[in-house]
Amino acid sequence: MAMATTRKQCSISTCKEEKDTCDCNGCLTTFCSHHYTEHRETFGIIRHEIEHDYNSLKETLRDRKNAQIPEIDQWVEDSIINIKQIAEQCRKKVIEYRNQFIIEIENQLTTLTTVLKQNQKEINIDEIELNQTKEKFNRLRDELNKISKVSIKRELTPSTTKISISIPFHKGNNITKLI
Ligand SMILES: [Zn+2]
Ligand SMILES: [Zn+2]
Repeated sequence: MAMATTRKQCSISTCKEEKDTCDCNGCLTTFCSHHYTEHRETFGIIRHEIEHDYNSLKETLRDRKNAQIPEIDQWVEDSIINIKQIAEQCRKKVIEYRNQFIIEIENQLTTLTTVLKQNQKEINIDEIELNQTKEKFNRLRDELNKISKVSIKRELTPSTTKISISIPFHKGNNITKLI
């Protein structure tokens, strides 16, 4: 604030000083030099408060701007880990099923096929053995039919796949434009 020196009375009621008064060109109040200095000191305090408010506002803005994105990224990572774990468990079950039933039937089928091929090469057909082989094929087919096919059921369970955002903003409720 610039100071215009005049000879008026200081506006502070308890002060009767009339010498070297000046008007603050901010609030147009007259002060003696002592109270003018005091008045200016309050500007320093106010400026300091504004700077403090500015810094804290900026910090809050930065937090608000960045806060939720890492949380969403984290949710993606957690969900991927979760899905991969479920997939691994499913794969393990399918592999167990394959090793326990399918490969066993496959091995028996190979053995039977070898027997059948040997039988075909022989000039004298062994009818009993041929019938036995046929019977074994039938039993193998029955075994395979008994084992139900692996089926995959897909479902989205909220606990593993859902995320929602709540934004405190309403239509028509814009930020007041101050500047
Ligand atoms: Zn003033
Ligand atoms: Zn004064």
